[in-house]
Formats: sequence, structure tokens, C-alpha cells
Amino acid sequence: MITRSRWILKSNNSRLFLIAVSLSLLLLLATLALWARGYSARDGVWYSNDRARYSLQTYRGRIWYWELSGGHVTSDYVWNTPTKLHAGWVWDSAPNSYYDRFRMMYGGRGLSAEQFTIDAPAMGYSPADPHAANWQALGFRYLHTNGWVPIAQLSWNYPTARSTAVFIPHWAIAATFAFLPATAMFAALRRRHRAHRGLCQFCGYDLRASEDRCPECGASKSA
Ligand SMILES: [Zn+2]
Repeated sequence: MITRSRWILKSNNSRLFLIAVSLSLLLLLATLALWARGYSARDGVWYSNDRARYSLQTYRGRIWYWELSGGHVTSDYVWNTPTKLHAGWVWDSAPNSYYDRFRMMYGGRGLSAEQFTIDAPAMGYSPADPHAANWQALGFRYLHTNGWVPIAQLSWNYPTARSTAVFIPHWAIAATFAFLPATAMFAALRRRHRAHRGLCQFCGYDLRASEDRCPECGASKSA
């Protein structure tokens, strides 16, 4: 444990560590921006070919990957996005107001924006499928079915077959990217605190009686 924290303290000075901290900080800010934006709009990207449709979406506190395959995929509007899909990559973005129309269609009750978008993979979930999975905890979720049959499938040309979705909450992504910046900040604070008290910044040994090197760990006093 001492060796580990010393490594972090020493590597705190290295250029590579600084780059990693900066990159983490940028990704953390981007995640926080997406997280906040997710409460007013859904953003995503789709990739379709003639056998499958893949998408990555960010909305309302989570990011999810959804894959639909095994059926015939046509290029058309799909029921949970106003964007027209076609073969290849399609950027897709919809404000919350788009989903309000669905609520009106259903008499203003029941189906919310979340149900139309976040729960889309779950709406075709078939527990009768022996290979089906529907596991969730703390905003994480894994959904899989080999018999995905969405309500709107016939009129909106959705492929019918295997559906796999993985949900990851924004908080978990933010926490991951916050780890290195938090470590760097903690190390810098501890170093400043030790220098202020005349202690070795690497091991905490009292250096007030030492000349240039720490007798405990050998680090240079001025390092
Ligand atoms: Zn030392």
C-alpha cells in the first residue's frame, strides 16, 4: 500500500500522468455535459446494414447500446426517433418535445418519454425466450431476447429477432473519469501539506534534521 501511494505521488510529476489526468478531466466534463443535456434531449448514433441495426444513445442519466439483428432491416423512420434511418451511419437527436406527441397519441396517459426511448429494447422483451436476460441494478441494465416483438414492428419496419441492450448510468462513467483527477488533486494537497510541515513529500519522514536526501526513502529533499 505504501509502495502504491508512493508510486502515485512520484508519477504525479511525470508528463504521462499529467496527460492522463488532463484527458480524464476532459472526458469527465464531456460526460457531465451529456448527462445534463440528457434531461432535455436524446442524442445517439445508429449503424444499419441489411442484417442488423446498432445504436448508441445518451438520455436521462444513462448511455445505452442496443443491437437488433436477425430480421430484415429496412431504411425508414423508426418508432422512437424522428430521424430517418438508412444503411450506414446516422446521427440522431430528438428533443423531449418530440416524445410529448406520443403521450398525446395515447391520451396523455401511460407512455412517457422514458418508456418510448430508454425502455424501447425492453418493450420487445420476451421472458418466454429460454435465453432471455433482464438484469438491472443501480442504473446498469442488461437486456437480451431472441424473440424481440415490438408493438409497432409491423407498421414501422423494425426487424424482429435478437435484441441485446446494455445500459450504463452516467454517474458510473463520471466516477470512472473522476478517479485520476481526484487522485492527482489528493496527492498534490498531501505533498503541499508535507512540504509545509518539513516532511518528505514521498514518505512523510521528518526532514528537518536532514541535509539533502530523505534517510527513509532516499528521495531528494527538493524534489
Ligand atoms: Zn522519504
